[in-house]
Amino acid sequence: MTRPLFIGSEIYRNSSYGPWHPLRVPRVSTVMDLSRAMGWLPPEQYVTSPRAKAAALGIWHSADYLAALQRVEATQIATPEDRERFGLGTPSNPVFPEMWRRPATSAGASLLAGELLANGGVIYSPAGGTHHGMPDRANGFCYLNDPVLAILSLRRSGAQRVAYIDIDAHHPDGVEHAFRDTPEVLVLSVHEQGRWPRTGALTDQGAGNVFNLPVPSGFNDTEMAKVRDRLILPAVAQFRPDAIVMQCGADAVVEDPLSRLALSNNAHWNIVAALRPMAPRYLVLGGGGYNPWSVGRLWAGVWATLNGFAIPDVLPATAQAVLRELRFDNHRLGRNPPEHWFTTLQDVPREGPVRDQVLHGLHVLTKRISTLRVCL
Ligand SMILES: [Zn+2]
Repeated sequence: MTRPLFIGSEIYRNSSYGPWHPLRVPRVSTVMDLSRAMGWLPPEQYVTSPRAKAAALGIWHSADYLAALQRVEATQIATPEDRERFGLGTPSNPVFPEMWRRPATSAGASLLAGELLANGGVIYSPAGGTHHGMPDRANGFCYLNDPVLAILSLRRSGAQRVAYIDIDAHHPDGVEHAFRDTPEVLVLSVHEQGRWPRTGALTDQGAGNVFNLPVPSGFNDTEMAKVRDRLILPAVAQFRPDAIVMQCGADAVVEDPLSRLALSNNAHWNIVAALRPMAPRYLVLGGGGYNPWSVGRLWAGVWATLNGFAIPDVLPATAQAVLRELRFDNHRLGRNPPEHWFTTLQDVPREGPVRDQVLHGLHVLTKRISTLRVCL
């Protein structure tokens, strides 16, 4: 098996959604800098992301919307119609200098990944995972939906069944919208109940291929391990995918400012590792994550996990320097970061009780696993 590829770009380093937006913090550039500081990212494993052309994005996004997105980037002005019809120029999806080029770059990575995985392999694109994007409008910080584009690209390149696993704190409403009537795509999400976008009910089955597990606040590592072993891995095994797309949003960890879940990054890494042998093609994406230290540490650890690199208990000085340089302006968590956010990648596990609500959700969903159609 060839070594995993990392698709990245410098466009993420200095672009920001604005000084008060949750996506003002650096994320992908931190992962690249940390990985290089660790000696984990040699040039032969790094691919510079192409920027997708509008024509290529037209396999899912509407031409009108793509034209509007490019126009608003060029003019830096969203009209009232752009706001109402396309969701552009809103507090969630503001006008900013790279508002077309940046998402077109992460979408380009997802389209390319589908092609590069035609004959199997492992690809990591931490800039991907924009799972709220809709065909004709921006939604929830997402201007395009690169996971949908990745799945379509994988299918066009020969994968017949694709399993999409999403452990972001938020429900992937855009991805479910795209594939809820497509039995060849398994859409499995674990997300915080009652949180925006408030979709993703336990009872929502799509064409039988949609599995939603809303979880209560305080969701811990012990609970996630049970979800992994009783739901995620058995569902994927039953589905027998040709490809797995894993959305590894970093906003379900305890230090994230936008959710109330309480995982450690071990929960994410354990799932990333467990899914790897379950399909010949494996694409791991980023997603949410709004604390610059926990995102950088978690996603660098994902890359280490995919490569089998040992994560040291204490980071070398060069890697610590990357974390010490991070700023989290306009947030209380940026004032006095604890020392271990600078000196380690791995969190202390956050074990806890497995609550009845989690067990009930698992009970409902595991009964459906055996009905997952293995078509074709
Ligand atoms: Zn999220």
